Amino acid sequence: MFGKIISLLKDLYYTFFPKTCIFCNEPLTKRERRAGKNEKSVIYERICYTCRKNYRYEDITNIGDNFAPIAGYIKDICIALWYPIAKTAIHKFKFKENIRKGEILSRMLCDRLEDKIWIYDIDYIVPVPLHYIDKFKIGYNQCDIIADVIGKRFKKKVIKNNLTRVVRSKSQHKSSRQDRYKNVRGAFKVKHPDVFNDKKILLIDDVVTTCSTLKECCRVLKGNSNNEIYVACLSSGIK
Ligand SMILES: [Zn+2]
Repeated sequence: MFGKIISLLKDLYYTFFPKTCIFCNEPLTKRERRAGKNEKSVIYERICYTCRKNYRYEDITNIGDNFAPIAGYIKDICIALWYPIAKTAIHKFKFKENIRKGEILSRMLCDRLEDKIWIYDIDYIVPVPLHYIDKFKIGYNQCDIIADVIGKRFKKKVIKNNLTRVVRSKSQHKSSRQDRYKNVRGAFKVKHPDVFNDKKILLIDDVVTTCSTLKECCRVLKGNSNNEIYVACLSSGIK
């Protein structure tokens, strides 16, 4: 009897505050919500049946030609989600204060990182920083949130204030690869390079497209330091 009342109250609650699919934003049915409970990962509680069929990881496992601009700087790259399905969810996370969505996406990246042997040897996790004005405008840096989720999962220290963004970027949507790199050149600074010396660093970005931001971050992280850089991203817009 008591269980039935709880169940009814829950149904009522979800009628007014529906749980939505993380990818397509459609309200989840009762069956879909419940099905998630039987899965190994709680993540599935937030994916509808249609998106489950399409859901897949990005299959880039090596630093291929697509990542040529940063290939000389990094040891390996880990990309979680296939872009066509993750695009909307990432955009919402990036611009619409949907932090909870971002945390779930970040846990998907953690699942992917678990297969990388180097993750267990990482010294510091470093998110790609936003300029303080942009961070203030949005209210948070999405890469900080991804970094925190990974840090918590793998018990690694996240350092957010050593790699900083000193120049704001212009909108890059219509820029060529060359222009994009020119735009970010000199945009980042490492305050205390000695902190990153002789360390294994995991650099976090949300979506990698032209690699221009990552390349510039890697360049300043390397500086004169002797360190190893790895990269993890939610998704890759490179096709
Ligand atoms: Zn869906």
